[in-house]
Amino acid sequence: MMDGSLADTMVMFDWNGTIVLDADRAHGALNAVLHKRALPTLDGEQFTARFKLPMAEMFAALGVDGTELATAEDEWNGSMSSATTRLRSGVATSLPTLSEEGAWLGVVSAASATAVAFDQRTLAVPAVWQVVEAPIADKLSQLSSRRGQRARAFYVGDTAYDMQCAAAAGYTAIGVANGYAAVRTLWDAGAEHVVESLEDVASIVRDRSTP
Ligand SMILES: [Mg+2]
Repeated sequence: MMDGSLADTMVMFDWNGTIVLDADRAHGALNAVLHKRALPTLDGEQFTARFKLPMAEMFAALGVDGTELATAEDEWNGSMSSATTRLRSGVATSLPTLSEEGAWLGVVSAASATAVAFDQRTLAVPAVWQVVEAPIADKLSQLSSRRGQRARAFYVGDTAYDMQCAAAAGYTAIGVANGYAAVRTLWDAGAEHVVESLEDVASIVRDRSTP
C-alpha cells in the first residue's frame, strides 16, 4: 500500500552481517589476509571477539604491517565479492513494504561498492534504496550528514561500531543478532533494540511511540 504513513521516517542499514548473513565469508576473507602474511588465523570465537571497524584498525590490531593496510583491504573486498552468501530473514518482505509506506531507505556500509552490488544482484535484494553509501570508513560522519533527511531516523547494524555511530549521530540504534558481533556486545554499545528478522525491524519502525 502507498499510504505514506512512514513519510517522516528514514531507515539506514549496514550491509554485511545485517542485510546479508555472511559472517562465515568474512571469517574466511580475514583468515586469507592473515595467512598470506604468516600471521595467526582466528577460530570462530576469536573472529566474533576481534572483528571490528574501521577495517584498517582491525588489520593493524591483528598484526598487519602499516604499509599493507590498503592492500589487505583490497584482498578482503576481493574475497567478499567472489563468494555468495544468504539474506537475513525478512529482507525480501519487509524492505518493499517499508518503501511503499514512504520510508526513506539507504545503505551505509564499509564494504566496497562492488561487493555490495555483487550481493544485491546475486541475492536479489529488493531495489528499494534511495542511496547506497559504500565504502564508508567513517560511518559517524556519513550518518550525521544524512540525519536531516527525515524527522525519525533508525540505523540497523550488527557491530558495536554501528551502534555507537548510530547513537552518536542521533539515530535509534537497532542491533541484529547472528551478525559479526555477540548480542551482549550490541547492548553494551548502545543498541536500543536487538532483533533477528527485518520484520522485527519493520515493527519497531512502525511503532509510533518510538521517536
Ligand atoms: Mg556489518
